[in-house]
Amino acid sequence: MVELKLDLRTYCECDVFVAGGGPAGCAAAYAAAKQGAKVFLAEAIGCFGGMGTAGLVPFFTGYTDGVHTLCTGFGDLVFDRMEAYNGYGEGHGQRRTIKPEVLKRIYDEIMLESGASFQFEAKMVSVIKEGDRITHAVLSMADGLCAVKAKVFIDATGDGILSTLAGAEYHLGNKDGKIMPASLCSFWSGIDWEKYNPHRAELFAMLTKAIESGKYFKIPDWHMTGVSQSNEDTGCGNVGHIFGLDATNPESRTLGWLEGRRIIPEYQRFYRECVPGFENAVVAGTASLLGVRESRRIVCDYTLVRDDFFQRRSFPDEIGHFSYGIDIHPYDSTYQEYLRFKNDFTAPGARYDGTKGEHYGIPYRALAVKGIDNLLVAGRCISADNYMIASIRVMPGCFITGQAAGIAASMAAEGADNSVHSVDVEVLRNKLRAFGAYI
Ligand SMILES: Cc1cc2nc3c(=O)[nH]c(=O)nc-3n(C[C@H](O)[C@H](O)[C@H](O)COP(=O)(O)OP(=O)(O)OC[C@H]3O[C@@H](n4cnc5c(N)ncnc54)[C@H](O)[C@@H]3O)c2cc1C
Repeated sequence: MVELKLDLRTYCECDVFVAGGGPAGCAAAYAAAKQGAKVFLAEAIGCFGGMGTAGLVPFFTGYTDGVHTLCTGFGDLVFDRMEAYNGYGEGHGQRRTIKPEVLKRIYDEIMLESGASFQFEAKMVSVIKEGDRITHAVLSMADGLCAVKAKVFIDATGDGILSTLAGAEYHLGNKDGKIMPASLCSFWSGIDWEKYNPHRAELFAMLTKAIESGKYFKIPDWHMTGVSQSNEDTGCGNVGHIFGLDATNPESRTLGWLEGRRIIPEYQRFYRECVPGFENAVVAGTASLLGVRESRRIVCDYTLVRDDFFQRRSFPDEIGHFSYGIDIHPYDSTYQEYLRFKNDFTAPGARYDGTKGEHYGIPYRALAVKGIDNLLVAGRCISADNYMIASIRVMPGCFITGQAAGIAASMAAEGADNSVHSVDVEVLRNKLRAFGAYI
């Protein structure tokens, strides 16, 4: 161990500091700024949108429960501009493919309009605390380290990094310590979409045949989401799983990048040789964010559990509702594990699929980090068991928790003690309704 003592310049002071500009962070910063709070958002890379842009994740899943639109407020803002700017690819009904470059510009526009300040290439690397209260976030920027002073902090890093640095408790993986696999998504060109029309079952049969031939894949992976049309001859590929990746472990992440890039050419060969319409397809690029589905789940005043899904539980402090099924990708490459996933999530009458028109509530307490006065979480790292995170983690869920965290943070910043644990929940819910949230 070595000790590092630094005199840091204060880059700025604000009411609400947001770490991470993915779906949750953008929703949080936007909502807080619209309440009149002085907001600063630090994003580690050069664009907003997280997995949905730099991560090349192909769809927004779970805007509705099939009857009610649940992801309203910030969700409407993004959805309407995606429509207006031709940001969706063809087909897939509600699950229309995201054109990532269009979505990047939409987030830019929305964040510029929000009144929040932000910096790209600003990685939050540490925090400064006094007792149970965070006072500063430490950032690494192009000109060195600096500190941002804030009253309230929001962790929207996806991986719960700010919370962990502040000493929050977290959970990782299922009861056996298994973590959902990651994927390195890819961008494809040269696809003849007119010719490509296999039904999902046919595509699966092609994949099965290829795996059984032993000619295509070093590690068999029976679960393939596929490539979805983006523009005329392009598509976003969510193909291949990186099994065993622990996103909280730096060495594991490095191996994950290597493995993600290793398997992409295998899929390119499979598609070119086996899937009509892909004869001339090439992978034009891979994502610049590693596609992490599951990492730290930060412990808050309440933890969403599987039973909340089955009971379609409602909470007195709910800040929104959600409905997407519990989508736990296969933990390993065995066929047995694929069948577990299929029976749980995709087969007719699957155990963890939602029921049309039904949804569960999201309590505010699942965002208020236990043991820390002025810290909220939003998005993929909220307080949930490994089942519930597999539902709420999708982007519309992140918009919902993000906007609630933003408004709650603006309220806490006005309070005498800046505590997120004493926010008046009825006032919060009314402000959320006025913001457009479905409550
Ligand atoms: C392969 C894959 C496929 C998926 N498919 C779908 C799908 O079809 N539909 C759907 O809706 N969802 C899907 N998801 C889930 C969804 O994309 C993510 O769960 C969601 O984007 C999480 O949002 P977030 O804002 O919490 O985190 P992220 O999207 O991960 O964004 C976090 C942001 O924080 C930034 N950041 C991280 N650390 C720091 C730091 N220290 N300082 C500053 N900034 C930092 C990152 O650069 C990033 O921009 C998928 C996820 C994966 C990985």
